[in-house]
Amino acid sequence: MKKVSRYEPSDHPHESVKVFADYQGDIVDRCDVVVVGSGPGGAVVAKELAEAGFDIVLLEEGLAWDAPDFVPDAGAAMVRMLREGGMRATRGNVFMPTMQAIALGGGSVVNSAICARSPAWVFDRWASLHGTELLTGASLDGHYQRVESFLGVEPTLEKVLGERNLAFKRGCDALGMSSAPCPRNAPGCKGSAECFTGCRNRGKASMDVSYVPAAIRAGARVYTSVRVDTVMASGRRARGVQGKAVDPRSKKAVYDVRVQARVVVLSAGCMATPVILQRSEIGNENGQAGRHLRFHPGTAVLAVFPDLIRPWEGATQGYHSLHELEDGLKYEVLWSPPPIIATRFPGMGVQFKDQLARFERSAPFDAYVDGADSEGSVTGRPFGLEPDIRFTFGAKDVKKLHRGLCRLVEISLAAGAVEVLPGLFGYKPVLRSQADLDELRAYRMKPTDPVIAGTHAFGSTRMGNNVKTSVVDVDGRCHQTDNLYIADSGVIPSSPAVNPMLTIMALASRTAHILAARI
Ligand SMILES: Cc1cc2nc3c(=O)[nH]c(=O)nc-3n(C[C@H](O)[C@H](O)[C@H](O)COP(=O)(O)OP(=O)(O)OC[C@H]3O[C@@H](n4cnc5c(N)ncnc54)[C@H](O)[C@@H]3O)c2cc1C
Ligand code: SF4
Repeated sequence: MKKVSRYEPSDHPHESVKVFADYQGDIVDRCDVVVVGSGPGGAVVAKELAEAGFDIVLLEEGLAWDAPDFVPDAGAAMVRMLREGGMRATRGNVFMPTMQAIALGGGSVVNSAICARSPAWVFDRWASLHGTELLTGASLDGHYQRVESFLGVEPTLEKVLGERNLAFKRGCDALGMSSAPCPRNAPGCKGSAECFTGCRNRGKASMDVSYVPAAIRAGARVYTSVRVDTVMASGRRARGVQGKAVDPRSKKAVYDVRVQARVVVLSAGCMATPVILQRSEIGNENGQAGRHLRFHPGTAVLAVFPDLIRPWEGATQGYHSLHELEDGLKYEVLWSPPPIIATRFPGMGVQFKDQLARFERSAPFDAYVDGADSEGSVTGRPFGLEPDIRFTFGAKDVKKLHRGLCRLVEISLAAGAVEVLPGLFGYKPVLRSQADLDELRAYRMKPTDPVIAGTHAFGSTRMGNNVKTSVVDVDGRCHQTDNLYIADSGVIPSSPAVNPMLTIMALASRTAHILAARI
């Protein structure tokens, strides 16, 4: 594998990206490899293969957002850059919000930039559960390294931590729990805590400013506002993809799009790729696309301190604890735009106003579980490509999350919080003491009690060696096909333990290098 240099930030990262206004009629193109979706999976494949000399077309349904377009307004950002305005949620025994982006760069544009490697034992677990022995931690090392070097991944610098992240560290230290600054792909981070609404400082190396421009420099053609509907096929061979160019203002599908290719790589994310396969005549012969959807269900507390925290300062998620990772729990500092945080304060009217006055002294901390005991599915709704997502939050995971919630309260109190808001429906809204914590520990939490969210989703087109129970092999190739690949979060078969983005990119890099040798 050739050595890789750091991406070059540019004032005009989206030059040469094709936008809807450029389209004068139906789009017909032909290439070696067509990649669908420009998130962490697709962007890496496009750049690696373009640099290897292949003719690449990258198709993305979302728009390219420039730094001046980002507004620190949660509602506006969600409507513009998140599917279904950020209101997408699961059905089943819990209502769990889950967010997927629609933007050039996919989830990397709105995420917190945590870039953590999955430990080696994750790959051992996958091997025993899914028969993926060929994929060892060591075999992925070079790809992790390659992505980290290109994106400038480094631990969050002390100067941009801010009080919110430091308070979490203090709590962990007091309890003897290990914790560390999060490694992030944000080499220019200024600690403005705006990752969710888009980095106005361009400090975050999201895909739209890193991998996608590099792919273009290497010759890739990138079309935005193009929604792929199906994979074209004859027999076991994919022939390309077809879809529509969608007017971003009217949302109307205006032009037909057909791209013929020697190889098709689907990277539309774990909610869209299975639906594309379900609608295509290839890649889902065993009916597994969309099954085995997994999440890292998580919850958060709000710790209120006696002194000023100014929580809007400091890297969005700058500190974490991997202390109980092997037991399926991860702890992190969190930040979201104020209107979202405000929903965590209890009360109404004057009481709510009083609570809001604590805002500047508060800090949210979150915990998520590995979701080993929970599973769901994705199927396309009758019209369009939006998914119907079902999910059952398993009893063991609920218990684990309860343990995580208690830990968060413990960390908060140890950090010096005078109040902790656990966010449990039907439970006392404010905890203040060790006695309150003991009471919480004895509480039997139901799946619907905590405010949960699942921003890490995976497994819906999982890899495995059993052609009856998985969708792709360890190289990302769809079973029973010659030239159809998947490179996105869907291939991750069960929990990557840590946040998934870096592993998605490392796997995509591996798939790209395998493909380069095969085609
Ligand atoms: C708020 C938030 C914070 C997060 N923070 C972190 C973090 O700090 N660290 C971390 O590791 N993970 C984080 N995640 C998760 C991470 O962002 C995702 O796991 C990751 O983006 C998934 O990458 P992907 O390539 O599989 O899919 P996506 O990022 O979802 O990209 C898929 C792309 O395909 C496009 N697409 C979909 N359907 C079509 C179609 N039919 N035609 C054309 N294009 C299509 C989409 O518009 C999208 O751009 C976070 C997620 C959220 C929502
Ligand atoms: S914390 Fe602010 S400066 Fe840092 S990456 Fe996020 S948005 Fe950019």
